[in-house]
Amino acid sequence: MIIAGGTVYTPDGLREADLHVRDGRIEKLEPWAHPAGAEVVDATGLWVVPGAIDAHVHGREPGFPEKEDFGSLTAAAAAGGVTTVIEMPNTLPGVADAAIFAAKREAIALRAMVDFGLWALLRSSTTEDQVNELAAAGAIGFKAYLGYAVRRSTGQVLYTPGAPDPDLEPPASYGTIARLAGALAQAGLPVAAHAEDPSVLLASAARVESYADLLATRPAVGEAVAVAALGVLARELGLRLHVVHLSSRAGLLSALAARAQGARLSLETCPQYLWLTEADYTRLGPVMKMYPLIKTVDDREALRAALLRGEIDTVGTDHAPHTDEEKLRGPLADAHAGSPGVQTLLLSCLELARQAGDPLRALPWVSERPARIFGLYPRKGVIQAGSDADLVLIDPNGRTVARSDRMASRQRHGALEGLEFSFAIRAVYVRGELPRPGLGRFLRPAAGTG
Ligand SMILES: [Zn+2]
Repeated sequence: MIIAGGTVYTPDGLREADLHVRDGRIEKLEPWAHPAGAEVVDATGLWVVPGAIDAHVHGREPGFPEKEDFGSLTAAAAAGGVTTVIEMPNTLPGVADAAIFAAKREAIALRAMVDFGLWALLRSSTTEDQVNELAAAGAIGFKAYLGYAVRRSTGQVLYTPGAPDPDLEPPASYGTIARLAGALAQAGLPVAAHAEDPSVLLASAARVESYADLLATRPAVGEAVAVAALGVLARELGLRLHVVHLSSRAGLLSALAARAQGARLSLETCPQYLWLTEADYTRLGPVMKMYPLIKTVDDREALRAALLRGEIDTVGTDHAPHTDEEKLRGPLADAHAGSPGVQTLLLSCLELARQAGDPLRALPWVSERPARIFGLYPRKGVIQAGSDADLVLIDPNGRTVARSDRMASRQRHGALEGLEFSFAIRAVYVRGELPRPGLGRFLRPAAGTG
């Protein structure tokens, strides 16, 4: 196949080139030659960019088909130009040992429309043997949910533990990470943490009737404390720390300080924290309830500036669907936290960078940097000879509006509803093929460089 006449985004900048694909890989780039034939895709007037990588999705399979499954998740990913997803481990049961990992990998591969990696779960009961097994099984990294208990009988990760219950295993903690530090450092894989300090959040607990009440229960200082503590663990114990869904200026300051003191630390934020603030609650309601919470204008501006300065490494979505019943029907205090977002990752990043002067600055946030951090580079995240032909054809004169009726996810209440992008996706290829169920392959990390 030849993708002809397009403007191709390469490590050396934009090139007017025909892109030759063979056996799912990029074979070569050649100057425009206007070829014709059955296997030629006309990309005249379009950008050819690397397929995006979303390293933070919750596909909900196995366990929660009413919310999402890996087919609907990856259909949304493919529709949005995301050709690789890295799936979080809080499915049912949580992915805390190699047998659960293997079963999940096999089940979701049947439906996967794009390539995928898998996060493994750290529980407070996790052993060094389990860390070693999960690393050998191909985990992309380990996720610790500070403050989230696990139901022992089912393996379910719970974000609302509620009353004391002998069936609840205490959440993974700083102590869990410290205890497993030797095995985690040996594995060389990143530890990702839901970085909101549970003791700060509990100390802030109060009645919740408004979004301001909710913000008081989960303040930015909880993120700042957790990132600081995790930064110390990373620095002192030789761990690679990946802070997911950074949401505040205070959390950013903790992360930058940890990095300056020698912690190996990569940072992710999400489109919702880059586009929305507390003021959007009157328009969006509980659709925009997610943990960490969307915060203030000052937080949003700090995150945007840090991303544009290169201090924040990646943008992932924390795509986390719930049913309308769980999300929208009850009082705000009971609404489940999380919303779908994978489909708008690439376009929302291009738009943000466009408004800052150059849309192409967004591409490393969602391709090269996550690929490097998670050991997928240069197979993924770049257009060059030998890399997988994961490609998105973008119309730079197009226009797309984020609209619920166009979402391929099983849930359609996205928090970016109504946002306008000055681009349109015209075609998406995964290893040179149009996405279809079962096409997606499991990705095992090589040593990452994050
Ligand atoms: Zn998440």
